[in-house]
Amino acid sequence: MAKKPEMFSGGCLCGHIRFEASGKPSFPHLCSCRMCQAWSGAPTVAWVEFPLADSAWTGAGGEPSTFQSSEKTRRGFCPKCGSSICALDDGYDKISLTIAVFDDPSLLVPGKQHSYKAAAPRWWKAEIDRTAG
Ligand SMILES: [Zn+2]
Ligand SMILES: [Zn+2]
Repeated sequence: MAKKPEMFSGGCLCGHIRFEASGKPSFPHLCSCRMCQAWSGAPTVAWVEFPLADSAWTGAGGEPSTFQSSEKTRRGFCPKCGSSICALDDGYDKISLTIAVFDDPSLLVPGKQHSYKAAAPRWWKAEIDRTAG
C-alpha cells in the first residue's frame, strides 16, 4: 500500500474553496441518507473526518458557505459552483469532508460503515475495494 501523505488537500469544482487537512483521518464511511442525497445530488456520499484544529481553508474564497441542515449540523458548499464540501457539527472537534472533493480521493478508503444504506436507490450498490488506496 502506498504511504499516506501527511497533508491532504482538496477543493471545489471552480477552485474558489480549497482546503488542507493534516492529522489523522478518521471514520471514513458512506452515507446514503436522504439529506446527503439531496445535498450532493449523488446516491451515496463518502465522508471522512479530520481534526478541526488541523484543517484550514486555503482558497481565495476562505470558508465555504453553509446551510443548516439539522439542529446541530451545517453543510458547507462553494457559493460560486455549489460543490458539496463538508459538514460541521456544533460542539464537535472534527470536520467531515466529502472524500470525492479531495485532490486524490483514492487515498481515503471508506470503512465498513454505510449509514442509511437502505435509503439508497434500489438500483445502486456501493462496492468498495479496500485493497486499494
Ligand atoms: Zn467552487
Ligand atoms: Zn447522510
